[in-house]
Amino acid sequence: MRVTIVGGGILGTAHALEAVARGHEVVQLEREPEARGATVRNFGLVWVSGRARGELAAALRSRELWEKLGAEIPGIGFRPAGSITLLRTPGEVAVAEEVVARADAQCRGFTLLDPADVRARNPALRGRYLAGLHCANDAAVESRQALPAMRERMTASGRYKFVTRTEARSVTGTAVVDDHGGTHDGDLVVVCAGAAHGGLVRELAGELPLRRVRLQMMQTDPLDEPLTTAIADGDSLRYYPGFAGATLNSLTHNESQNAVADEHRMQLLCVQRLHGGLTIGDTHAYDEPFDFDVTEAPYAYLVDVVEELLGRALPPVRNRWAGVYSQCVDPDQLVCRTSPDDGVWVVTGPGGRGMTLGPAIAEQTADLIGL
Ligand SMILES: Cc1cc2nc3c(=O)[nH]c(=O)nc-3n(C[C@H](O)[C@H](O)[C@H](O)COP(=O)(O)OP(=O)(O)OC[C@H]3O[C@@H](n4cnc5c(N)ncnc54)[C@H](O)[C@@H]3O)c2cc1C
Repeated sequence: MRVTIVGGGILGTAHALEAVARGHEVVQLEREPEARGATVRNFGLVWVSGRARGELAAALRSRELWEKLGAEIPGIGFRPAGSITLLRTPGEVAVAEEVVARADAQCRGFTLLDPADVRARNPALRGRYLAGLHCANDAAVESRQALPAMRERMTASGRYKFVTRTEARSVTGTAVVDDHGGTHDGDLVVVCAGAAHGGLVRELAGELPLRRVRLQMMQTDPLDEPLTTAIADGDSLRYYPGFAGATLNSLTHNESQNAVADEHRMQLLCVQRLHGGLTIGDTHAYDEPFDFDVTEAPYAYLVDVVEELLGRALPPVRNRWAGVYSQCVDPDQLVCRTSPDDGVWVVTGPGGRGMTLGPAIAEQTADLIGL
């Protein structure tokens, strides 16, 4: 088959890879000179730990697919580094104790560590915390390198073409018309336009159960030592659905969040890039119109938290940015996947887990279509 993919982010690229791997020909259209959306702005965390029960199998499958892709395409920068969620209050430790006692703890790769064990696993963590929830299954990839590396692999197949500066404007049958007046004929169209919910997506699929979420992020200069695992703080327990339960309810009832963290719906996630710098975030804003400027208070708060956990000063912050992802608001769906016409699919809305789930979502789409 000839498959036309719209969108150059992880969903479009994972669908392209899946189609090429299954023997098809792929043309992938990206409206910008290079992918510019959520994928290249994210942490690159393949995050299994706090997934809801209903999404755990897909997250584990995707982790497996990422590991396989990472071995085949070293430019993805896959590393099975795991994560440690650092717990700083008795209430947070109680939530971790509850989740490690659950039946699915082993499958999530959870172990509760005391401070000495935390330091043994990640010697850079010389700061203040009471315990650490280790997740052996969490992993990381290099988001800004992964897409070009994956495309290079597909190009080598001779059955793949990446067309940039080309916006898909309409679809007639299974032919995509772009903003240069060109037509891309094929047998199948998969639209993965990220947070672009208007334009082509609205024309094809109408109003989908989606919302957009804006996050603030930063990147430091290289740290002069390895951070051997990704790290998170206890606020992430409030954010990820896998930690829900009576103990979390009592935490949220009895322990208030820092005022800045509460106002900006924050959690700390931090991962070391291959160049040594730390990618640190994040905030969550749900009400549009989103600010177009980044706000300083959350950055100052995140620096304080990381410095407390590392027990040392951070290298200077080199970059700050914001990103927007598309999130399906139906909690039972991993993504909004709909086929408005024969041979035309719209796939978007993986939320804050699109990098984690991209390969599994693409595999599911390909199986569903019978690619
Ligand atoms: C700051 C931030 C941090 C995150 N961290 C993580 C993380 O660590 N782990 C995780 O699992 N998830 C994370 N996420 C979520 C994840 O990044 C997203 O779910 C995922 O990248 C979405 O991929 P996508 O391909 O759907 O969209 P995008 O990456 O936004 O790509 C869509 C692309 O489509 C193009 N496009 C749109 N319309 C058209 C058109 N008509 N024609 C041609 N091209 C078009 C756009 O230019 C864009 O390049 C994070 C998100 C953000 C914003």
